[in-house]
Amino acid sequence: IAYYFDQIEKHQHLNAFNEVFFNSAKKQAEEIQAKLEKGSAGKLAGMVIGIKDNICYEGHVVSASSKMLENFVSPYSSTVVKRLLTEDAIIIGRLNCDEFAMGGSNETSYFGTVKNAADEERVAGGSSGGSAVAVQADMCLAALGTDTGGSVRQPAAFCGNIGFKPTYGRISRYGVIAYASSFDQVGTLTSSVSDAALLLEVLAGADENDSTVSSLPVPKYSEVLSSTAKKKIAVLKETIESDALDVETKEAILAAIEKFKEDGHEVSYVSFDLLAYLVPTYYILTTAEASSNLSRYDGVHYGYRNTQAQSLNQLYKSSRAEGFGEEVKRRIMLGAFVLSAGYYDAYYQKAQKVRRLIREKIEVLLQSHDVLVSPVAPTPAFKIGENVQDPLVMYMADIYTVLASLAGIPAVALPLGNNKAGLPLSIQLMTKHFNEQALLSLSHSFL
Ligand code: GLN
Repeated sequence: IAYYFDQIEKHQHLNAFNEVFFNSAKKQAEEIQAKLEKGSAGKLAGMVIGIKDNICYEGHVVSASSKMLENFVSPYSSTVVKRLLTEDAIIIGRLNCDEFAMGGSNETSYFGTVKNAADEERVAGGSSGGSAVAVQADMCLAALGTDTGGSVRQPAAFCGNIGFKPTYGRISRYGVIAYASSFDQVGTLTSSVSDAALLLEVLAGADENDSTVSSLPVPKYSEVLSSTAKKKIAVLKETIESDALDVETKEAILAAIEKFKEDGHEVSYVSFDLLAYLVPTYYILTTAEASSNLSRYDGVHYGYRNTQAQSLNQLYKSSRAEGFGEEVKRRIMLGAFVLSAGYYDAYYQKAQKVRRLIREKIEVLLQSHDVLVSPVAPTPAFKIGENVQDPLVMYMADIYTVLASLAGIPAVALPLGNNKAGLPLSIQLMTKHFNEQALLSLSHSFL
């Protein structure tokens, strides 16, 4: 633990941690040491893990990187935290992220931007930017993030680590601050596939506190990694042929495809013609859900309160106006709009239908193929400030990650080395619902 405290101190300027849990982590380390000596320690004994600052840990602040929850102490632990603790992982601190997980660059955090350790003038990605940088700069062994539309995969891609988002419903969301509940899923950022497998094995599975979690048995992911079964891999043609795709990213993905072929997998190119609908559908549905989820922050139930207000309405208004940042407000307004009478059918309900189409199309592709391939992001990490003026540019960059989120399927971002400028490149693999083993074993043999 001393090593990681030291690493955190050395990399403080990257702004990855919102808080280091010095006391509880030290205490845990001592307890686990004693257990190890007695031979009674859990599966994750000594694994030092950082958690995204939207995951509740009893007795610790959980802020969602928002002024709204700046001083909010969680009265209970999320299921994922409980499971980590039961298996004796050490939780070292809470990691910076975009405010309420809304963003793709970690620039919307109330606590400031996270810097990419590969180039400090560039973003870490988001929204789990702190999680990605903490693993990248070895400030913890692994980190938890949440992925609603790419927030684990894209920062992992920008920082050269492995970002794994399981099937929607594989891991409990109990105690995870909601952004868009029909999309949100906890995922892992690690530097090895075996760590991702081991963590998933501990985190996945039914939970009486979250009825959306599947009761399917949890495979021993860490034991199926060595499977070398040959896979049918389909490259989503339009995602690779797009002019918007950075040239070096494309070359690295093509080289990865060659390697899959050399390894004996069958690779084909398939068409996915709904690409243009992904980003609009995702942003209509997630903002709608967000506007509803975030209505609980009213200055009364939780968090920040304006103390000068003279009436209840004024209290709601000013607490929300002062507690939320600009991006969060933009999304609440957009969400309230698409849900409002008169626009509901044209936007929200239509988007639900398009989501269904997207999901069905992907399921058909996955009937005849084991794995789908696409980029994670159109470019490597961009410069801090480069995209903040234009939210639409930022939203469009989510095009490749929101697909798996809309369909609810598992997806992983894998590192492909660096470009000439030293920035990490990556590839995305996706598979059928609850087929995480396939993704993990293929990733393991590939890397
Ligand atoms: N960048 C996407 C968004 O802003 C994804 C966020 C996430 O997955 N939490 O919504």
